[in-house]
Amino acid sequence: MLKAPYKTLKDYLEQRFGTRVQRVTLEGGFTCPNRDGTKASGGCTFCTDDGSSSGAQNAGDTIKTQLLQGISKQKHRFASSKFIAYFQSFTNTYGEVNYLKTLYDQAIDHKDVVVLAIGTRPDCVPEEVIDLLEEYTAKGLEVWVDIGVQSTHNISLEKINRAHSYEDFVDAVNRLARRKNPLLKICTHVILGLPGETKEMMLETASRLSLLPIDDIKIHQLCIFKHTAMEIDYLNGDIKVFEIDNYIEILAEFIARLRPEISIQRVLGEGKIGELIAPEWADHGLKNKFLEKLQGYMIDKNLSQGSLLANKT
Ligand code: SF4
Repeated sequence: MLKAPYKTLKDYLEQRFGTRVQRVTLEGGFTCPNRDGTKASGGCTFCTDDGSSSGAQNAGDTIKTQLLQGISKQKHRFASSKFIAYFQSFTNTYGEVNYLKTLYDQAIDHKDVVVLAIGTRPDCVPEEVIDLLEEYTAKGLEVWVDIGVQSTHNISLEKINRAHSYEDFVDAVNRLARRKNPLLKICTHVILGLPGETKEMMLETASRLSLLPIDDIKIHQLCIFKHTAMEIDYLNGDIKVFEIDNYIEILAEFIARLRPEISIQRVLGEGKIGELIAPEWADHGLKNKFLEKLQGYMIDKNLSQGSLLANKT
């Protein structure tokens, strides 16, 4: 495998913790204000019934049980010694602070957990939640606040029924960054290929995000999953998805517009057979081949993370 011309999460974790670090996905039983009628109902048009595109795990057990099961499974596969406790599905800061604390406390209750990662929305990060998260950094843990934004263009956010604005995202990022806490990290998620977005709009998202104090990013191409609002639009021919080469071309230019300090946690959306409708090339198991293709393309085109930064000196 070629050396990636961008900063991978693996690079960051190995440098920071000196060992392999694996995710254990935890299901906290949360919902989302974009589904329960508080902000809107129906959710984002790409959102599946498990609140993400990659599926929840271990639902039904206590967080502590899920954690121990997840760690034992990972140790069996990789003999890894450190873990990220990851609340992925739905909005994992959407609850009373005392309740959140009972769940997060269980998630870190193992000596090998080094990161608490929490997926959420920009409008669900109030100051009291940030205060709680800082209690965990005071114990020496890294806390990653994973805030989905998907696009920096409000017209796109409206189209996909996000029920928050780009300004909400900037506000949440700035309030987190204002704590000046090096263990409190900000990660964001974006989707390339949203309905109506041009290449220029997608690349502008990269440039805008590079100006914000984010630490990490997850990028993936638009995927259409079964039982989502987008499924109908896709089947009606109103939405298109990327061909793999087209995605690689835009992704490479997107990465080239990101600040080199930002760790790239993901560059590909994958789906399980039977759940993913499109693109067909994004079946599970593609990742290594995809990374090789992306890295080869970037090297051929002389692109690397930050090489096309708008304000490069
Ligand atoms: S904010 Fe997240 S969990 Fe809520 S509807 Fe959108 S994608 Fe689903």
